[in-house]
Amino acid sequence: MKPLDVAIVGAGAAGVAAGRHLAASGLDVLLIEATDRIGGRAHTAFHDGLPFDLGCGWLHSADRNGWAALAPELGFHIDRTTPPWGVQFRDLGFPEADQRAARAAFARFEQRLREAPSGSDRASDLLDPNDRWTPYLEALSTYINGTELEQLSIRDYLAYADAETGVNWRVTEGYGSLVAAAAKDVPVALNIAVTGIDASGRTLRLTSARGEVEAERVIVTVSTDVLASGAIRLPPRASDHIDAAGALPLGLADKIIFKLSDCDGFEPDTQVLGNPSVKRTATYHLRPFGRPLIEGFVGGEAAREFEADGDAFAAFARDELAGLFGSGIRRRLEPIAQSRWGRQPFARGSYSHARPGHAAARAVLAGGVDGRLFFAGEACSMQDFSTAHGALQTGLAAARAILDSRGA
Ligand SMILES: Cc1cc2nc3c(=O)[nH]c(=O)nc-3n(C[C@H](O)[C@H](O)[C@H](O)COP(=O)(O)OP(=O)(O)OC[C@H]3O[C@@H](n4cnc5c(N)ncnc54)[C@H](O)[C@@H]3O)c2cc1C
Repeated sequence: MKPLDVAIVGAGAAGVAAGRHLAASGLDVLLIEATDRIGGRAHTAFHDGLPFDLGCGWLHSADRNGWAALAPELGFHIDRTTPPWGVQFRDLGFPEADQRAARAAFARFEQRLREAPSGSDRASDLLDPNDRWTPYLEALSTYINGTELEQLSIRDYLAYADAETGVNWRVTEGYGSLVAAAAKDVPVALNIAVTGIDASGRTLRLTSARGEVEAERVIVTVSTDVLASGAIRLPPRASDHIDAAGALPLGLADKIIFKLSDCDGFEPDTQVLGNPSVKRTATYHLRPFGRPLIEGFVGGEAAREFEADGDAFAAFARDELAGLFGSGIRRRLEPIAQSRWGRQPFARGSYSHARPGHAAARAVLAGGVDGRLFFAGEACSMQDFSTAHGALQTGLAAARAILDSRGA
């Protein structure tokens, strides 16, 4: 068989974006995906016809987000409702004055991060142990970064660019559905886990339990934890990439979706935080898009614990919601779906962060090898890491680098 122009390992946001661009440029390209669906950490599921996202849901930096720009072209609708983050529905268990104080504590903490001495890169070093809002700040880190502040590089955190735009929209039909639809004109092979890439010959040879494929160039888009696990044997010259992936581990964030049997008393697109005084708490988006759903969100060690213990997340969330709304809410909540991203063998977590001292690893990971092997995916983005639009940008960058190299 004639070698492919480009093989792309992984059909998530980065792989799909790269595949679209290369296919539209007339190249013979194949997306090779280990699971039975397109989207990766972008995954819309359905219950009684109601869509909900188990992975990415928000078009962050929406005013410059490539997926937001593409959505109308693919027949998807954008919802511009302001996110409910940071405002407690009816002040339940979180009086207005406390909410203001907590937000101010977060702003002070971010200011301390910006002023951190150059030798210090561990975010937890800047916590004030006597501040009443320290557990709240730790909880926020588990949502934003998927990890505790102890594991977080200050420089990497500060490099994230969303604060500059602050515009967050959603896809009415689901972010995951949008990413999957974007692959419509790209050849895809599902259920093939690539296990090795051999660069010793004139073409690159990709191996899997289902056979081999040859390609002139390859883009690897798998998550950093998959890369660091050694699940794909890479050429020796990519060893720096594997080290970089290890320095950019995935944090963990998970969702639980409840169906509400009766929406009375819940205003659409509002939010509650389970308990603002503790670190181990979840946040709940009430009636997203006005639908009869509640989306619980938890991160870090709590998420890891819940993944290990069957119905623990559902029980915890019911307790927190009952604490806020009264125990009558229990019988109105039916758990219909739950993510366990850490247990998905082809994800192994939720989104990347840099370990303290390792912010520079993103640039290493994003570099190519010998003009033939390229890397893309959210972790390769310098400013939009951890997001689906960051993944898209890195996929496009790899595709453009390949087109340039062919032109040269
Ligand atoms: C709970 C949660 C909430 C999130 N919320 C948001 C949000 O609101 N907004 C936002 O922008 N981002 C959010 N994210 C992050 C976002 O989903 C990811 O950053 C993005 O989807 C990553 O895309 P990617 O292409 O880099 O990687 P992936 O989506 O992981 O794609 C990699 C693909 O490679 C495949 N693969 C792995 N190993 C192999 C192999 N050996 N062979 C072949 N294929 C393989 C995988 O199955 C996967 O399909 C969230 C993520 C989670 C988990």
